[in-house]
Amino acid sequence: MNDLISQFEDIKERNTSINAYISFADIEKQNVSKTGKLSGKTIAIKDTISTEGLRTTCASKMLENYVPPFDAHVVTLLKKHGVIILGKANCDEFAMGSSTEHSAFGPTHNPNDLDRVPGGSSGGSGAAVAGNLADLALGSDTGGSIRCPASFCGIVGLKPTYGLISRYGLIAYGNSLEQIGPMAKNVHDCSLLLECISEHDSRDATCIKREPIEYTQHLDEDIKNLKVAIPKEFFGNGTDEVVEKNVWNTIKKIEAEGAEIEEITINSLKYSLPAYYIIAMSEASSNLARFDGLRYGLHVDKANDWNDLFSKNRKSGFGFEVKRRIMLGTFALSSGYFDEYYIKAQKVRSLIANDFQRVFRKFDVIISPTMPTLPFKIGEKITNPLSMYMSDVDTVSANLAGIPSLSVPCGTYNSLPIGIQLMSNHFTEKTILNLGNKIEQFSGVDK
Ligand code: GLN
Repeated sequence: MNDLISQFEDIKERNTSINAYISFADIEKQNVSKTGKLSGKTIAIKDTISTEGLRTTCASKMLENYVPPFDAHVVTLLKKHGVIILGKANCDEFAMGSSTEHSAFGPTHNPNDLDRVPGGSSGGSGAAVAGNLADLALGSDTGGSIRCPASFCGIVGLKPTYGLISRYGLIAYGNSLEQIGPMAKNVHDCSLLLECISEHDSRDATCIKREPIEYTQHLDEDIKNLKVAIPKEFFGNGTDEVVEKNVWNTIKKIEAEGAEIEEITINSLKYSLPAYYIIAMSEASSNLARFDGLRYGLHVDKANDWNDLFSKNRKSGFGFEVKRRIMLGTFALSSGYFDEYYIKAQKVRSLIANDFQRVFRKFDVIISPTMPTLPFKIGEKITNPLSMYMSDVDTVSANLAGIPSLSVPCGTYNSLPIGIQLMSNHFTEKTILNLGNKIEQFSGVDK
């Protein structure tokens, strides 16, 4: 314990330049199991996930003083498995963003280059693991928020199949799209963390009851004859050349191991970004209605009437990106526009999901870059929301289709990490974790 306490002091010190944590836990009070699967390991938990007695802000002024009276299901499981919770990780406000710059607690810095973003929205989780400020992290992923920071920070991150992990206690942004998921330095630890958090929970009606899988036991399987599809739509169109080159080099290595590679087209993919943003913003506008200062959230002292009170609370509690999305989402759901935007986006979502099913009848895995670019500079995209949204172009389709998706480091350029994205059919996490483990061996990642 004394070792851990001095290590924790060092983490707090180093956090001043990275800003990966919003709040620190009291590690001395944690009476965790010494024999659990995660005993001896430490974790950072994204600040959208409720922790009993530990402030949970969603990186928003709105929840600056919110201390949940209960644990999220995943947090209960973490405690059961003996991990030590170090604190709550910074993120974009209410998980809306791709850079962790939209945080009321200041941006997180990428440990590989402090002038650059760590990705988002789970950027604090990514930076904590990459910067040795925690062994493991939990993130949440609505449209890429685990995989983007995994890619930008040079670590492993998995968005599980929709329904594998309980969302009980996750503060909702886009609830039909999002999952909590593991982030770690290597595929083995990511698989171990997944094993521990994927226990069924009846408090989330979308959590599906299944036989538990020991993902760590499936990491050394042969990839001979594995059928891999490479959709052309994930390449070109604003993808950095160095990113493409690294991803293709890795694909060639997989081929050399005996996997069968085929380039394909999925036409509906070109509509995934607009469909995602319409659905995500619509759900956000509805989910965030509860933060009115009466039921939840910041409460101003002086107001003339109810309308004035709600307006003042929401005006001072939310940051500008959250306000933008609530307004756009409310617009997309308003009568007269509903069919044209929300319903159309849902139809596109079905098309994309069906197209993925068609591909998975023939292929085991789909590969693409995780992010189209290298980690960008802090401030580079903050004033241009469209270019920020464009960085999610390769990640959102997995959320629309509810399929699992893993980001694994596959190279670097000028010391900046590059990630490769592996997707497979519902509940086949073990296929992509096994392939990810092979890729890690090519890239020489430390275990
Ligand atoms: N960057 C995407 C967005 O802003 C994804 C966020 C997320 O996955 N939480 O909506």
